[in-house]
Amino acid sequence: MAGKRQRNNRKRRSAKRLRVILLFELMILLLVAGSYYLIARSNKDGDNGKDNKQQVIDNQDGKKDKDKNVDENLSPEELEALKEQERLELAIKEREGLVEEAKKLTLSYDYDGAIELIKSYQGDEGGYEVYQTLVTAINELEEEKKSLVLYGGSYTSVTQFNHIFFHSLIADNSKAFDGDYDSVGYNMYMTTTTEFKNMMQSMYEDGYVLVSVHDLAKQVEDENGKLKFVPGEIYLPEGKKPFVLSQDDVNYYDYMDGDGFASRIVIGEDGKPTCEMILDDGSVVQGDFDIVPILDAFVEEHPDFSYKGAKGILALTGYEGSLGYRTDDPTSPTYEQDKETVKEVAEVLKANGWEFASHSYNHRNMQDKSFDFIKKDTDRWLEEVGSLVGPTDILIFPYGVDIESTMGHYSSDKYHYLKERGFNYFHGVDSKPWMHLKDDYVRMTRRPLDGQAMLEFPQRLQDLFNLDEIIDPERPSKNW
Ligand SMILES: [Zn+2]
Repeated sequence: MAGKRQRNNRKRRSAKRLRVILLFELMILLLVAGSYYLIARSNKDGDNGKDNKQQVIDNQDGKKDKDKNVDENLSPEELEALKEQERLELAIKEREGLVEEAKKLTLSYDYDGAIELIKSYQGDEGGYEVYQTLVTAINELEEEKKSLVLYGGSYTSVTQFNHIFFHSLIADNSKAFDGDYDSVGYNMYMTTTTEFKNMMQSMYEDGYVLVSVHDLAKQVEDENGKLKFVPGEIYLPEGKKPFVLSQDDVNYYDYMDGDGFASRIVIGEDGKPTCEMILDDGSVVQGDFDIVPILDAFVEEHPDFSYKGAKGILALTGYEGSLGYRTDDPTSPTYEQDKETVKEVAEVLKANGWEFASHSYNHRNMQDKSFDFIKKDTDRWLEEVGSLVGPTDILIFPYGVDIESTMGHYSSDKYHYLKERGFNYFHGVDSKPWMHLKDDYVRMTRRPLDGQAMLEFPQRLQDLFNLDEIIDPERPSKNW
C-alpha cells in the first residue's frame, strides 16, 4: 500500500509542477501579447494624429520661412526686381490677350479693326512697335488680309448684291395655317421659322455673308468738301457673297394675336434680345420665335456669316407702336414704361448688329399719297418711333412701292423732304437685285423670300435655293 501511496504522491507533485510551468508560460504569453498590443496602438495613434500635426506645423514653418525670405531676407533691390518680374509677366499676358481679342475680330473679316486694336496698345516701354509679339501679330494680320478680295470675287459691283427681306416669322404653324380667314395671307406673305433656318443654313453653305447697307455704300467728302455716296470696299475671302437682310413690320400687330407669332422683342435673362409669345392659356413664354434671336444664335455659332457683326435692318411702322409695345397710345397704362423699354431693347439690338429703318408711320402707298400726307407721316414716325430707336437714314417703302417710278434721279418734293429729314437709303421690292447709287442717295430693291415667292414664283429663287430643301412640309400648298 505504501508503495502505491508514494507513487501517487510523486504523480501529484509532478502534476503540480506542470501546472506551475503552464501558468508561467501563459503569463509570458500574455505579457508579450499585451506589449505587442500597446506598441501597435501607440504606432497607430502616431500615424493618425501626432505625425500629421507635426507635418502641419512643419508646413506652416515652411511658409513662414518662405515669407520671411521674401519679406526680410531679400535686399530692397532684390525685392524690387521680383516685383518688376511679376509686373512684366502680367504685361506679357495682357498683350497676348490683346492679340487674341484682335484675332476674334478677324472671324468676321474685320482685319482693319483687329490691326487698329493692336496698334492702340500703349505699354511702359512705348507703343505697339517696341513689342515683338504685337509687331509679329500685325504682320500676320496684314498678310492674311492680302488674301481677301473685293466682294469675295463674286461680284464686280455693289449693285449686284442681294437684299432679301421677310415679315414676322410664323413660329407656330398649326395656328397660322389653321384655315381661318387670314391663313391665305400668312401663306402668301410669311415665312416659317423652319424655312428661315433652312434658308440661312443654305446661304451660309453657299458662301453668303451678311453686310450692312452702311458698308455697302458710304458717304465720303469729295474734293470740294461735298458729301457723296461711293461703293463700299468690302473685302472677303475668295468665293464669299455679301448680301443684305431686312425684316418689315417688326411691330407684332394686333391682327396677328393668337396666330402663332411672337408678341414682342424683349431682353432675355442672358442680356440678349429674344422674343415673347403668348400661349392659349394666356401664359407668356420666351424663345427664338422670330428672326432676331434665330439669326443672332446662328451668327454666334458661325461668325464668318457676318461682315463686321452685321445682322439686318428692322423696319418699323408707328401706328401700333414698335417691337410689340403699344407706344402709340398715350392712354395705355404702361405708355411711359413701354417707351423706356423700347429704348432699352433698341440699344441692345443695335449693340448686336441690328439697324432700324422707317417703314413709314401709317403703312400707306407712298406713291399714291400726297406730299402733305408723306410729310405728316414722316414727321410722326420720327417723333414717335425715331425718338425711341434712334436716328436712322434708311427708309423701307410700305408694300415695296417707291415714292417715284423714275429710272433717273429722284426729283420729287417727297424725295427732297425725306432727304431733308435725314433719309439716304431707299428700299423698294423687286424680284432681282437692282440698285442706283447716286451722289446723294442709295436706292436698292429687295427680294421677298415669302410663301408667294416660294410657291408661285419658284423660278425667281433658283439662283438662291434648292426650294425642296427649304419649304416647310407643314406649309399648305398654293391656295390663292
Ligand atoms: Zn410692310
